[in-house]
Order: sequence, then structure tokens, then C-alpha cells
Amino acid sequence: MKNYKAYTRSNFRELPEIKRLPEDSIADIDIVSRVFPFKTNNYVVEKLINWRDVPYDPIFILNFPQRGMLKDYHYRMMAEAVRTGDEARIRRTAREIQYSLNPHPAGQLEHNIPVKNGRKLNGIQHKYEQTVLFLPSRGQTCHAYCTFCFRWPQFIGDSELRIGAREIDPLLEYLREHHEVTDVLFTGGDPLVMKASTLSDYITPLLEREFSHVRNIRLGTRVLTYWPDRFITDEDAPELLGLFRRIVASGKHLAFMAQFNHPRELSTDEVREAIARIRETGAEIRTQSPILKHINNNPELWSEMWKKQVDLGCIPYYMFMVRDTGAQHYFGVPIVRAHEIFREATAGVSGLARTVRGPVMSATPGKIQILGPAEVHGEYLIGLTFLQARNPDWILRPFFAEYSEDALWIDDLVPAFGERRFFFEKDEFEYEPLFKDLNN
Ligand SMILES: *Cc1c(COP(=O)(O)O)cnc(C)c1O
Ligand code: SF4
Repeated sequence: MKNYKAYTRSNFRELPEIKRLPEDSIADIDIVSRVFPFKTNNYVVEKLINWRDVPYDPIFILNFPQRGMLKDYHYRMMAEAVRTGDEARIRRTAREIQYSLNPHPAGQLEHNIPVKNGRKLNGIQHKYEQTVLFLPSRGQTCHAYCTFCFRWPQFIGDSELRIGAREIDPLLEYLREHHEVTDVLFTGGDPLVMKASTLSDYITPLLEREFSHVRNIRLGTRVLTYWPDRFITDEDAPELLGLFRRIVASGKHLAFMAQFNHPRELSTDEVREAIARIRETGAEIRTQSPILKHINNNPELWSEMWKKQVDLGCIPYYMFMVRDTGAQHYFGVPIVRAHEIFREATAGVSGLARTVRGPVMSATPGKIQILGPAEVHGEYLIGLTFLQARNPDWILRPFFAEYSEDALWIDDLVPAFGERRFFFEKDEFEYEPLFKDLNN
């Protein structure tokens, strides 16, 4: 596909397939998209969505806002505002609802942004010792928006909620002082919406000798699902692949952190060709996905997805739990159910596809892996551990919560054995910024 075309609230009614939907469903898209970001494109519409199954098609649900994403009272508030046609009221109502939906989960604004000379380094997040996240301001959009996105506040045009760095210099300065950092992860949004030349301006300085401690350049991206032609027909595709080759030739590992939620995203000719071209540069593709109600909460689907990924030379990496923000009540899968799906999916694949770690909650204290339910001496428990933690001493320590059928998140769980707190909640001081030495 040569020309990218976006569909948003302003033009989605042009789609012939949309015209065939009941008027109510079209109104719901309009209403819900006032609160959550909405964008899809011609590749998704023509190659991924199975319109015969709409409104139940998983890829349709992945891009088109769903009525259930708003709680009933929020839906009624918004529907009423839209009915009046008063734009100021619509905006006010949208903001009110957005601010009530925990727009920055896991303490992203309070805990992870390093401070230098009393100034916050906006667009940089450093939570785990080895890895720094970098959010370039020009990468703060995507080729399409996922309805479940936990970064949704990035896309609703509210500068107070948005994070992003215009310059690479603060990152370079930070890395000069932080030799423990081995990985720089470009994320967003999607860094691959940027032109190859812009991305190269950000990455090239990292290939210099003084940053030899940075071993891994990671690109967190959804481009393979939403615009694989980025690597085929886009004008700067050769330049982009050239940049990948240059990174690999410099001796660093280029890790393409792709997100796939459904096997269909791995099935088009375009995505297969794009994966082949990326792999040919020497980059490795790792894959991750949240487990989502209405989209992929079924073990056969996960087995199939991981098998397809291994077929294509990708490395399955993480299965995430839906975060406690936005429409978690709509997409969230309970902890014990997610574990059951993970277990059954794992049993259906060979060891080469068992490289996935999950299900994982990216929570304030760290990445918490669900080890699963267990009965110990007549007590029903859920085992958990840390894969990543603010305090490295917590990593891989098993701990236990009381069994719960419907808990979606760590905050819904109660410590086992009558304890008042989980072990990591005992040292509150660990919630201070980890890298205090910059506060000078
Ligand atoms: C997941 C994550 C990382 C990367 O963790 P890995 O286990 O190394 O992939 C880094 N920083 C933050 C804030 C994360 O959530
Ligand atoms: S591609 Fe990533 S950042 Fe963009 S909308 Fe989807 S989940 Fe969010």
C-alpha cells in the first residue's frame, strides 16, 4: 500500500463498511471517541478487519471505540453533552471523565522521571537499573490507536498529561553519568512514525564511543501491525533499513520490540515481507501483548500467535495484564483467568515459543509476574514474583496473596496469611526516585 490514509472521528463515516452499521453503533463510536483517542487507517480497514464479523471482530474492537469502554454513568454524561452540540461542554465533560480514569498509572509522573539541577528531564523515564525509556516528542503518535492503550493520555491533546522530549541532549547527558544503563528503549506513541532521518538524529549519537556502555537499542513499536509498508513502499524505507544496519554494524544489539495482539496481524503478505526485511538487517524482533477481553482472551489464539511468531523468526517476550487506567473494566482479564490462559497456551507450543514471561503487571513497585494459584495446607493462594523492581533486591522473590476469582490488578489483591502489607510495601522510602544522585 503506497498512501497512508487515516480515519478519525471526523471522517470515519466515509467508510462504506461503516455506513452499513446501525445508527446507534455509529453514534457510540462518536461518543466514546470524545473521551478516548480514535484513529485507524486504510491498511487496518482493508487488510486486517474482517467486516463480516463486525461488531464482534477483534481487530475492529482494537481500533474502533466501544460503548462498554465507558462506564454507564460516564456514557450517559457524554451522550448528553454530545446531544447538546455545545463544544465547550463536550470538552469539559471529556476532561472530567479522562481525569477520573487514572491517566498516569504506576506512578509514571511522580516516580520515574529523573531530576537534574531541580529540573525534571521530561521524556526520559528511568525505573529499572539497566534500562532508560526515551519518549521523543515527535514519536508521540501512532499509525492507528489501540482502544485499550495505557498511554492514551498522550493522544488526547492535553499538554499537561503529555510527556515527550524535544531534544536528545538531556538523554546523552544523563547517559554520560549513568554507566549502569545498558539499554535505551525508544517508545511513545511509536518512534517509527518518525522519518528515518529524524530517528537517525536521535540514535546516531548513541553509537559514539563514549556510550559504549549502552549495548542495546530498543524500539518499542506497533508499526508491523498498523503500517508494515513502512519497510516496503514508504519513501524512506531503504534509509530506515540502512539505519538498522548501521546500528548492528556498530556492534550494538538492535531489539525491535513489536506488539501483536492477534494472529491475524501476522498473516498479511505485507507484515511477512516487513519482518523478513527487518530481520535481514540483523535486528532481532521480540514480541509482546496484553491479554485482552473481547480481543484475545483464549489460549488457542495465544498458542497460534506464538507459533506464527517463531515461524517468522520473532521471539515471544512478554504477556502483560491490562493496566489500571482508562477502560481496564472493559478489557481487563482476571489474574487467575489470565494465568490459566497463559498455562494452556504454553502447554500448546514447543520450548522455542516458551520464551514469553507472563502474565505480568507493570505496577508502581515493578513488573509483577503471576506465578498462579496454589493450594497450600488448605489455604488458597496466588503466587507472585518480581521480574523487574524499583529495588533490585526484590527481583524473583516469591510472595503470596489470598486467592481471588475476579481481581484484575495487584491493588485488588490482599496479602496472604493475614499479613497487613506485601513485603515490598514495608519500605516506603523505596518509592523515592531511585536515582537520587541527580538531585543536586
Ligand atoms: C518493561 C519496562 C522496561 C523493560 O524491561 P525488560 O524486562 O528489560 O524488558 C523498562 N522500563 C520500564 C519502565 C518498563 O516498564
Ligand atoms: S501503538 Fe502502542 S502507544 Fe500507540 S495506541 Fe497502540 S498501545 Fe498505545
